[in-house]
Amino acid sequence: MRQSQLFTKTRKSAPKDEVAKNAQLLIRGGFIHKEMAGVYSYLPLGLRVLKNIENIIREEMNGIGGQEILMTALQDSEIWKTTGRWSDDVVDNWFKTKLTEDSELGLAHSHEEPLVRIMRGQVSSYRDFPRAVYQIQTKFRRELRAKSGILRGREFIMKDMYSFVRTQEELDEFHEKAAEAYMRIFARAGLGERTFRTFAAGGSFSKFSDEFQTLCDAGEDTLYLDRAKKLAVNREVYTDDVLSELRLKKSDMEEVKAIEVGNIFKLGTRFSQPLGLTYKDENGKDREVLMGCYGIGLGRLMGTIVEALSDEKGIVWPKEVAPFQAHLVAITGGNADVAAEADRMYELLREHNIEVLYDDRDIRAGEKFADAELIGIPVRLVISEKTLSQGGLEVSERSSGNATFVSDSDIVERLKN
Ligand code: ATP
Ligand code: MG
Repeated sequence: MRQSQLFTKTRKSAPKDEVAKNAQLLIRGGFIHKEMAGVYSYLPLGLRVLKNIENIIREEMNGIGGQEILMTALQDSEIWKTTGRWSDDVVDNWFKTKLTEDSELGLAHSHEEPLVRIMRGQVSSYRDFPRAVYQIQTKFRRELRAKSGILRGREFIMKDMYSFVRTQEELDEFHEKAAEAYMRIFARAGLGERTFRTFAAGGSFSKFSDEFQTLCDAGEDTLYLDRAKKLAVNREVYTDDVLSELRLKKSDMEEVKAIEVGNIFKLGTRFSQPLGLTYKDENGKDREVLMGCYGIGLGRLMGTIVEALSDEKGIVWPKEVAPFQAHLVAITGGNADVAAEADRMYELLREHNIEVLYDDRDIRAGEKFADAELIGIPVRLVISEKTLSQGGLEVSERSSGNATFVSDSDIVERLKN
């Protein structure tokens, strides 16, 4: 992509009402556009990052046997009344609307009810298990506070997976597989070292749910972390009893701030029971299906990467989520030979399927460097009169700032690794 043709420009400042660092940087870099509080559009650079995150998640969900589906945002109030979750007293973040005076619709904040209704037509025998389906889809939540940029949207994209099994053992087994897949996702997204599986409230079938929490001062959650054991406990369940149950010592626990990037629950029969999702066992006896659910917010994850890894100059994208692998910056100083060499290098990299953003704009070198630092592509390649005379380019890493000189003939090899 030639930067002179890119749909977005960088900006010196973010909107005054935007207080979250993630959104400020993403808006300035041209990744997203703020429509209103908690509602953001994804522009070309931002969508490339989102798609990369989506692909990581999709690969890992397929890897544990998930099958992808896509359910509707519009929700039938009738099915939600069956579980009691249509009531605003039970679920306080519904966006609701009306079709006619007596038929109400909702915008989905989650999808257990409609999915269980779909599953009623798909599972009937003990042979139909296990099943796991997931979607990457837009959710709506009437969040009262939406001051955290894309960490907390009123409209946001979630990956939600649901598993359907027969026994507690199968439920536990799938839960562990999902937890491992989650840790792989966060590692691939560059957050492995700072993300911890965390005991949290909210299991309807087990004492705890498992949250995946990324250490970050911008986080809304407070955890107690045993770094050596790599275990954390959310403040909401942090009691002496819980500590002794988990064999953790208060004196080993460090209080930290964190962002919840994922959450997995054992739902048990919480939904299958009221919605009548049953199957016939080996003896022809009706049994209730056990369920688990597994969520990750894609925007939450993208915003967390920005919050956790950026520096004073801008964003620092990890390799697997970066919008481009390399940022080629031409510093021509009006020299046509340098411009021609930069064009040639751009074509060469494209031929080798290296995704490159090529800053071919006719602006000052300082502006180009500042933009490259703000946008945060992992590798920057600079071609100038000086590097041309030496037969190569200057290659620098965004994360460390380390720069080296690489000769023309080695550059493709270097970027492929
Ligand atoms: P929170 O406690 O942060 O409000 P939650 O526990 O209600 O989140 P879940 O229903 O468990 O969230 O949703 C699964 C995942 O979806 C969360 O772990 C988070 O990554 C993401 N998520 C939840 N709410 C939002 C939101 N408003 N904007 C963006 N992502 C969200
Ligand atoms: Mg949660």
